[in-house]
Amino acid sequence: MIKLLSTDFDGTVVDHFGAPPVSPEFLVALAWLRKRGVFWAVNTGRELAHILEGLGQFASPVEPDFILTAEREVFHRSPDGKWQDYGDWNARCAAAHDVLFSQASSLLTDIEEFLRVHVKAHPIYEGTRLIGLATETDEEMDRVCEFLERERRRVPGFQFMRNTVYVRFCHEAYSKGTALGELGRLVGIGPEGIFAAGDHYNDLPMLDGTHARWVACPENSVEAVKSTVLRAGGYVAQSRCSFGVLEALRFFGALDGLH
Ligand SMILES: [Mg+2]
Repeated sequence: MIKLLSTDFDGTVVDHFGAPPVSPEFLVALAWLRKRGVFWAVNTGRELAHILEGLGQFASPVEPDFILTAEREVFHRSPDGKWQDYGDWNARCAAAHDVLFSQASSLLTDIEEFLRVHVKAHPIYEGTRLIGLATETDEEMDRVCEFLERERRRVPGFQFMRNTVYVRFCHEAYSKGTALGELGRLVGIGPEGIFAAGDHYNDLPMLDGTHARWVACPENSVEAVKSTVLRAGGYVAQSRCSFGVLEALRFFGALDGLH
């Protein structure tokens, strides 16, 4: 039985090319599930402020119970309603990344050099730390990812998360998947009670069946996501974004009783 939903946001809940961008029926279904005690976690690559803005814009009036941001951090509400760290996961995550980035300095210098010489890319910095990059085309990002896949092995634990033409560097122990696993642990719900849906490469760690038993993706997902979902015994929807997630929830029987 599904007790916790973990949905990506852009391309999974929100269709930026769609009219409407979010299925009204999907929002009704979400509200109905939440009334029955099912938790909703938005599991996104966005930072906290940016996802709150997106939720206000698209998913109102349904509010998530949890927000997992930057493909790795876990937030819940304080008693006064403010979003705050849930447990010590975010602190452990930050510490692991401090160590990782200090060990990766020569790799990061080589990545900067590769970007300068070989592709039209825009490095992204947090202070002086190179934390990721954006390219102008998917093809350029393919080439960057080939390079990163080859070179990342120089630094134990170094991984990267691709989402369309963006990449964020990260520790392999921290992903949408492990963050969801930690949320499940904190709320006492195991993988057999968890549904996850996503559309892009950065969603793969929550869609392989490890952290969620019920996995799905909308029609607009990249091939790697569709094949991962199928391998995990999940559902590949025939419609886009939230229309597809709604289809998956119906397929798994989560909406039985909703008319
Ligand atoms: Mg997405």
